[in-house]
Amino acid sequence: MKTARIPATSQEFPIGKIVCLARNYAEHARELGNETPAAPVLFMKPASAVIGDGDTVRIPPYSQECHYEVELAVLIGRECRAVSAENAMECVAGYGTAIDMTLRDVQNSLKAKGLPWEIAKGFDTACPLSDFVPASAVPDPHNLHLRLSVNGALRQDGCSSDMINRVPRIIAHISAIFTLQPGDVILTGTPAGVGQVVAGDVMEADIEGVARLHIHIQ
Ligand code: MG
Repeated sequence: MKTARIPATSQEFPIGKIVCLARNYAEHARELGNETPAAPVLFMKPASAVIGDGDTVRIPPYSQECHYEVELAVLIGRECRAVSAENAMECVAGYGTAIDMTLRDVQNSLKAKGLPWEIAKGFDTACPLSDFVPASAVPDPHNLHLRLSVNGALRQDGCSSDMINRVPRIIAHISAIFTLQPGDVILTGTPAGVGQVVAGDVMEADIEGVARLHIHIQ
């Protein structure tokens, strides 16, 4: 079982579902040639895809193009169903750093056929995820710098202030569809600068004041 930890409070949650937003930063939507959506675009990763700091992403043999996407992760600490945006932040237990590993070639071919994305987004090791800091330690989740470097070269450098849908609206939207439970995790989308990694690369993802992740590629 995969566990989400908040070391500062010694809280631990078995990870439930991981609900992810696509195209939540306009510049990133543009770089992939996508429209900016009117409503949040959602997909899920299974908890079995989670790996931790220091672990290794294993690119499946059915892909030749694996991309990184650094994202702010929101850990749910209390059950919520159809919560309002005004009350949504009471459900947040903490924040972490995630990388939404994506098999871009596989995803593009699925998109072209109108098929779901799970095999491009949910394979084993597709969700590097840090430990979490308590929500109380992050006064404004919409003023966080997100960075990702590959082999020491900076590739993504964005700010969560550029999110199209912000955390309260995201939680309100998702919880009207899926009941959110303690241990569920939301990945809030990636800023521009996504790109490919190959076997032997090392990624460093960092969200200032939240967490850093050091991940190998194989
Ligand atoms: Mg993503």
